[in-house]
Amino acid sequence: MPLPSGEKYGARRCHAKSKSTGKQCGNAACLGSTVCRYHGYRKPEKVLRGKQHPNYVHGERSIEGIKRHREVMAEIKMLTKLAKQLGMIKE
Ligand SMILES: [Zn+2]
Repeated sequence: MPLPSGEKYGARRCHAKSKSTGKQCGNAACLGSTVCRYHGYRKPEKVLRGKQHPNYVHGERSIEGIKRHREVMAEIKMLTKLAKQLGMIKE
């Protein structure tokens, strides 16, 4: 038995573009997403993050690693500015 027509009931369409035809995918978009199950929809709770992800190596490029790097760089920038104001280092 075919599923009810998405167009008839106003279901949102997947916005992905086909590589072969260049046209829009047209499948029904998954709940809370703009793409269908063929074009990358995954439930957020199913996405593996951090050390659980199979491609995790050292964590320098993880979300936490990048956040940590930005905090350290902001601290270094602030200390450099302070040292210049106190005359400890020259510009
Ligand atoms: Zn699609």
